[in-house]
Amino acid sequence: NERTLAIVKPDGVSGMYTSSVKKIILESGFAIQRELTVHLDEDSVRRFYAEHSTKSFFPSLVKYMTSGPVLIMVLEKTNAIADWRALIGPTDASKAKVTHPDSIRAMCGQDLERNCVHGSDSLDSAAREISFFFY
Ligand code: ATP
Repeated sequence: NERTLAIVKPDGVSGMYTSSVKKIILESGFAIQRELTVHLDEDSVRRFYAEHSTKSFFPSLVKYMTSGPVLIMVLEKTNAIADWRALIGPTDASKAKVTHPDSIRAMCGQDLERNCVHGSDSLDSAAREISFFFY
């Protein structure tokens, strides 16, 4: 079995989407192995998204991700990483609403930044991201 890191971002939590997201997760055959609700500080977000630190949207991303609590989960199932990425849909939630209307980002996201959920994109990043939040 494979593990991936899922995050319901501040817009998802404040928009009351955590229970519908969890319902989709469980109905899709994932086990929720760990979960944690936290309000991330700027330093944590900068370290978590370090690969984006030179991008123009980085300051805005840090502001967004620190704007309220997030729900962080470790999901487990066969092919968890790719299957969770498929469920959440494309990064740009405004496009997801058109091209992937059944995706989670279409359901609760707004645009390229405020896309309501996160999913690890590879085995390496899943391992790094899980150990970032859980021992
Ligand atoms: P995530 O890593 O959160 O699952 P992703 O892999 O689809 O999303 P990345 O390219 O890793 O997207 O970007 C990380 C996050 O930064 C995005 O989820 C989004 O919130 C924000 N982001 C990405 N690109 C942009 C952009 N061009 N403008 C504003 N925000 C962006």
